[in-house]
Amino acid sequence: MTNSNYQVIIGMEIHAQLKTKTKMFCRCAVSFKASPNSCVCPICLGLPGTLPTVNEQAVNLAIKAALALNCQINLQSTFARKHYFYPDLPKGYQITQYKEPLAINGYLIVDGQKIRIRRLHLEEDSGKSMHLGNESLVDFNRCGVPLIEIVTEPDITSPLQAVRYLQELRQILNYLDVSDCDMEKGHFRCEPNISLRKIGETQFGVRTELKNLNSLRNVREGLEFEINRQTQLLAANQTVNQETLYWDEHTKQAGPMRSKEESEDYRYFPEPDLPVLIITESQIEKIKHSLPMLPHERKKKLIEQYHLTPALAEIITESKELADYYEQVVKLCNHPKIIANWITTEVKAVLNEKNISIQEFPITSAQFAELINLLADEKITSKAAKDIFQIMLTSGKSALAIAQSQNLLIVKDYETLNQIIEQVISENPEIVDKYHKGKNTVLGFLVGLVIKKTQGRFNPQEITQLLKRRL
Ligand code: ADP
Ligand code: MG
Ligand code: ZN
Repeated sequence: MTNSNYQVIIGMEIHAQLKTKTKMFCRCAVSFKASPNSCVCPICLGLPGTLPTVNEQAVNLAIKAALALNCQINLQSTFARKHYFYPDLPKGYQITQYKEPLAINGYLIVDGQKIRIRRLHLEEDSGKSMHLGNESLVDFNRCGVPLIEIVTEPDITSPLQAVRYLQELRQILNYLDVSDCDMEKGHFRCEPNISLRKIGETQFGVRTELKNLNSLRNVREGLEFEINRQTQLLAANQTVNQETLYWDEHTKQAGPMRSKEESEDYRYFPEPDLPVLIITESQIEKIKHSLPMLPHERKKKLIEQYHLTPALAEIITESKELADYYEQVVKLCNHPKIIANWITTEVKAVLNEKNISIQEFPITSAQFAELINLLADEKITSKAAKDIFQIMLTSGKSALAIAQSQNLLIVKDYETLNQIIEQVISENPEIVDKYHKGKNTVLGFLVGLVIKKTQGRFNPQEITQLLKRRL
C-alpha cells in the first residue's frame, strides 16, 4: 500500500518534566527515587481548604525553554482547571494553562525546515497508577510535578521528521538544563496527532492521537502504523474516526483507548486560587542573558576552535555533558583531534553497549587525559592504549599505573631491540631471502615477530624502520 496520493500531516504535543527541586504548587520534593507516596502534602493530594502557590523556579525554566524555542512570552498568563476523573488525580482536576499560555508563536528549525510552535505552557503532572494482576496501586509522588507542554502547529510531514524534531527538542532542553528528557522514565512524553490529506486538498483530514510512545523507535513505528492504517481506510472510501489510539510496542499495533473528548468535556475554567502570572521584561532579559550555548552554537565552536570535522562535532555535541567532558579532557591534554576520535569511537562504544550516559562513564576526564597524553607522547602504542582503556573501565586505576604493571610502556632501549631484530632475522632465513628477492610484503610478518618478542613495548614504526635498514 503506498500513500503517495496523500500528504501526511502531524502535529506534536510534548510534555517535559522540569528539573525543579520542588513541585509546581507546593513545597514537596520532586524525587524519582523516593518510596511511593512519601513526597506528598495536603496541597498536592488535593485536600479541601488548601491553596496552591506557583513555583518560581518552574516559571523561570519554562521561560528559558520558551526563549530558546523563539517564542513570544506573554507578560500575563493564567491558570485553569482541566477536569477529569482518574484515580491518579486526587483533586479531580489538573491545573494547567489554557486560554492564556505562558508563551506562544515559536519555532524550531529541524534540518532546515521550520516547525512552528503554537504554544508552550506550564502545568502539573498527575500521579502514577500501576496495575498488577487484580490489584491497582497508585503513587501520588508525581502529583503536582511541574511540566511544560509544547504544542506544534501541524507542520511535520513524516515519521522521520517527527523523530528528528523530538531529538532536536530534547537536545535543546538538555542543554538548557530545563529537563532531563528521559523518555523511558516518562520525563519526556510525546503525543502526535496524525491526519492524511489528498494531494491538492486544502482542508485537513480527521486526525487521531497516538499515546504510549515511550521511545523514539516507538514514535517512528507508531506513526508508520497509523499512516498506513489511515491510508487503507481512505483508499477504501472509509472514514477515519477522531480518537485516541494506544500504541502496543509488542504487537506493533495501535488500538482505540477512548474516543477523544471534546475540549468542553474537561469543563475548563479559570483557576480561582491562583492570581494572573505576571512576567516582567527585566525577568525575561535576565533569563535571556543566562541562556547557555545551544547545540548548534556549541557544534560551531568545536569546529572552529579545535578544527573538528562537522561529523565528529555532531557526535560530541549530542549531549551537553559529552561536549563538556570533551572540553575538559582537551584542557588537560592538548590533542583535540585524537581526543575527538577516541570519544566518538571507543568511548561512545562503551556508552552504547552499557546504555549509560557520560555522567555514568567510569573514567574521569583527568584519567582519560593521562591516557591520551601517553599515546600522543608515543609512550604507548595505540594497541596498548586500547588495552589500557579496557582495564581502566573496570579497575579505576590510572593509565600510567596500568602501562607500568602490564609492561606496556614503549622502551627506547635500542640495544635490546637490535638484538631481538638480529634474532628474528637469524631464525627466519627463508623469509629474509624472500624479502631480498623483492617480496616486500613479508616485512610486515617480520615486524609482527619482533612485536611479539618485545611484547608491544616498542613503537611498530620504529621497528619497521630499523628492520628495513638492517635488511
Ligand atoms: P486538542 O485540543 O485536541 O489538544 P489542538 O487543536 O490543541 O487539539 O491540537 C493538538 C495538536 O494536534 C497540535 O499539535 C496540532 O498541530 C495538531 N493537529 C491539529 N489538527 C491536526 C490535523 N488535522 N492533523 C494532524 N495534526 C493536527
Ligand atoms: Mg492539546
Ligand atoms: Zn505537596
